[in-house]
Amino acid sequence: MRELIVILGAAESGVGAAVLAQKQGYDVFVSDSSAIKPHYREALTSRGIEWEEGRHTEERVLAAKEVIKSPGIPDTAPIVRAIHAAGIPVISEIEFAGRYTDSKMICITGSNGKTTTTSLIYHIFRKAGYDVGLAGNIGRSLALQVAEDPHAYYVIELSSFQLDNMYDFRANIAVLLNITPDHLDRYQGQMQLYTDAKMRIVQNQTKDDAFIYWNEDPIIRRELSKYHIESRLCPFSIIKRDGMIGYIADGEYVIEHPTPFNMEQEELALTGKHNLYNSLAAGIAADISGISNEVIRASLADFEGVEHRLEYVCTVHGVRFVNDSKATNVDACWYALESQTQPTILILGGLDKGNDYESIRELVQQKCKGLVYLGVDNAKLHAFFDPLGLPVADTRSMADCVREAYAMARPGYTVLLSPCCASFDLFRNMEDRGEQFKTLARSL
Ligand code: ADP
Repeated sequence: MRELIVILGAAESGVGAAVLAQKQGYDVFVSDSSAIKPHYREALTSRGIEWEEGRHTEERVLAAKEVIKSPGIPDTAPIVRAIHAAGIPVISEIEFAGRYTDSKMICITGSNGKTTTTSLIYHIFRKAGYDVGLAGNIGRSLALQVAEDPHAYYVIELSSFQLDNMYDFRANIAVLLNITPDHLDRYQGQMQLYTDAKMRIVQNQTKDDAFIYWNEDPIIRRELSKYHIESRLCPFSIIKRDGMIGYIADGEYVIEHPTPFNMEQEELALTGKHNLYNSLAAGIAADISGISNEVIRASLADFEGVEHRLEYVCTVHGVRFVNDSKATNVDACWYALESQTQPTILILGGLDKGNDYESIRELVQQKCKGLVYLGVDNAKLHAFFDPLGLPVADTRSMADCVREAYAMARPGYTVLLSPCCASFDLFRNMEDRGEQFKTLARSL
């Protein structure tokens, strides 16, 4: 009898895993407790893969040799508890796909900056003419590409949830950008458990591999002292220090190894301090992969950025509009404000995940000429920011918000949407919030 692989969750990663498992000769059953999107249903049905939606039929799930779980499903879900109780191994789609390819894996994780850095590395590899796929949290699933459209290199964005269920997977190049508190609701409120998940990015690395990380991150430094890491350590910093592989010195972006590289910091397409980290990590990954200095230089200079991340929208009568809707925590907004060079009208608010605004108080005082609150409940924002004495406006729709922000601005100002909060009180998601902001700004 053929062995059964069960897949929990039928979205991008689950459907990709199902296709690959079928191709590898397994019986496959896909189970999703919610409704499956029509195109994913169609992808399964057209390949003759069995699926169910709106429930998990326990006896079928527990017949599995192995379960591939979507990163969105927590370990506390009753079906996952039952799988663990039955002693059935649970792995992630990336772990599964990694078994069936020898391609080079460039894997990026961190609390902030993953999508930007992953997209930038992918951009450089494409420009260099490498045969490369984009996978993980963005792009198509790794499993589907391994099954149907294989590449020599994969650039993979990994969340802590994906790393949780990775065991034998090996990253040829691992990038760890930073570790700051996030998703603690999924880690029993314990920062160490979340940190352990992030550090899994280096497990199984060998001396032929490389580990690129931000040298100044206190948590990464502490963790490094605990681990024996086999791979080549490639720390970067925005300060020139001994041992750094990449750094910024006197307005120059520098990579020391393996191929010495430098360019003017001013030529980098991505602005803001946080993007120096992202650009250094990406440049080092490309340099290690043998991409020429010319290509790295051109790619770092012409990268267009990622939508909703400090995205320039338009200028209306001298007022610049910048969409940073993805800034759903205070740390991300800190970096957005830090990068502003013009007087700023800041739009913030939404669903607060227990924010402490203290860390941005000083930057708000330094950079902002006005604040527009955008949320169903703006009471906490009033209480914290009103005492700073800046003009403030209270709004509950994007239309009012953009109008108020524009009215506060003068030529030479920037209107920055960097809300520190989730979007679900007024919008479908952060993309919807960003889209509405862009459309309304462009129609002023
Ligand atoms: P992720 O995929 O990890 O959520 P993104 O690249 O989508 O990260 O960026 C999310 C937000 O985090 C951006 O809007 C930006 O303001 C902030 N950010 C980006 N890179 C960094 C970094 N290296 N350190 C801190 N904050 C960052």
